[in-house]
Amino acid sequence: MSRIRSAIIIGGGIAGPVAAVALGKAGIEATVYEAYETRADGVGGTLSIAPNGVDALAAAGLGGIVEPVSTPITAMVMRNGKGRRLASLGSPAGLPDQLLVWRPELYRALHDAAGQHGARVEYGKRLVAIEQHDASADTETGTGGGVTAVFADGSRASADILIGADGIRSAVRSLIDPAAPAPRYVGLLGFGAEVPAGPVDPSRLDPTGSEMHFVFGRRAFFGYVLAADGSGGWFANLPRATSMTASEARAVGADEWLRVLRETFADDRLRAVDLISRTDPAQLVTVGGMEDIPTVPTWHRGRVALVGDAAHATSPSSGQGASLAIESAVQLARCLRDLPYPEAFATYEAMRRDRVERIIKMAQRTNSDKAAGPVGRVLRDLMMPIAMRLMNPESFAWPMRHHIDWSAPVTSAGAAGTTPLVSVASSSA
Ligand SMILES: Cc1cc2nc3c(=O)[nH]c(=O)nc-3n(C[C@H](O)[C@H](O)[C@H](O)COP(=O)(O)OP(=O)(O)OC[C@H]3O[C@@H](n4cnc5c(N)ncnc54)[C@H](O)[C@@H]3O)c2cc1C
Repeated sequence: MSRIRSAIIIGGGIAGPVAAVALGKAGIEATVYEAYETRADGVGGTLSIAPNGVDALAAAGLGGIVEPVSTPITAMVMRNGKGRRLASLGSPAGLPDQLLVWRPELYRALHDAAGQHGARVEYGKRLVAIEQHDASADTETGTGGGVTAVFADGSRASADILIGADGIRSAVRSLIDPAAPAPRYVGLLGFGAEVPAGPVDPSRLDPTGSEMHFVFGRRAFFGYVLAADGSGGWFANLPRATSMTASEARAVGADEWLRVLRETFADDRLRAVDLISRTDPAQLVTVGGMEDIPTVPTWHRGRVALVGDAAHATSPSSGQGASLAIESAVQLARCLRDLPYPEAFATYEAMRRDRVERIIKMAQRTNSDKAAGPVGRVLRDLMMPIAMRLMNPESFAWPMRHHIDWSAPVTSAGAAGTTPLVSVASSSA
């Protein structure tokens, strides 16, 4: 039986609301504190939720909440800029399709579900400091003490534990480890947009159906879906030697970026230019430099632990960041359900670290393909079709085969978090 009764969750993105619901299921009352004044309904862009993310949502009791607001993707088709098909990856055998969802829709679905499950979310609460009480004694016993979150507006909140679900620029991560690594630029700027239905020259229309198409263009990478009525969504990854923050990139202006992107893809035989030309500048999502963090040394300290991008930020190229955030939120709740918190945190880390860091590494390789120079492009275009034919499909599918059995008890991994797990009741083939 858990000795923890209450939790503060910092961050109301993806991991935060899921952690709140999963902790509630584990008998721990959780309140989410989000820095922004409202939920992030206006923040655009698409996200794919992989089968492992769908599985983890179901384990938390949130099964079926994404399906009504998403589109299933049956295959990912890779082409080069000349239109040559390099590879096609269908959904791995026995797994559901991944789900393509607009980020605002996902946030809305998660926040609505969290509310229905009784989790409270407070907006306009930016964490600036953490006070841990009796931390050294607690670490020994898992009893007594508490933790207080201090917010920028001067208000405070206290609970038994605090969970940092505050994303890739986590304040909680820096507060528990001032030497924690900063995000690393992966060499690509990110853009995306939704394009409404409209009159399109039928000879220029090549609908993708339920597939998502990815193009390794001559100068940049483009991903898109396109429906028969001309509506669709796209994202582009533009190689650039130096990073730009989101605000620096936005200061350049949407019209200018759309011009740059049209020029970038002008020599490629693909639908990018059509889709970019039909994009309303007001709808352009300018992400700035895409980032990851290869490893975060400290996942927990005293009564505080990290989940989601705060602990394991993979670059968007993995298509797994949201799904891993959901998995970690659920696994942390299972550990806290069954173990006193010091052991729960160590067990959670032992359960998760290898898996997430392996996926972060896989995404690094994809980033190199996206930013390939002329020689790299030739090699990539030659090798990718061969590699795909020879590849064991499981080398692509394993991240998606992760399953969480909510009802299985969690066994301690040892306080140091390094002892191999005997039984964690989750599988990651
Ligand atoms: C362009 C782009 C495309 C992506 N595409 C995909 C994809 O297709 N598939 C996929 O799985 N993943 C994708 N990702 C990654 C995915 O978005 C993240 O992995 C995921 O959002 C992580 O969830 P999280 O809850 O940990 O963090 P976030 O979703 O970033 O949420 C963190 C929350 O914490 C809040 N916060 C921050 N600081 C504080 C503070 N001090 N106090 C209180 N609140 C705070 C923030 O306002 C935010 O609401 C993409 C990312 C980007 C940038």
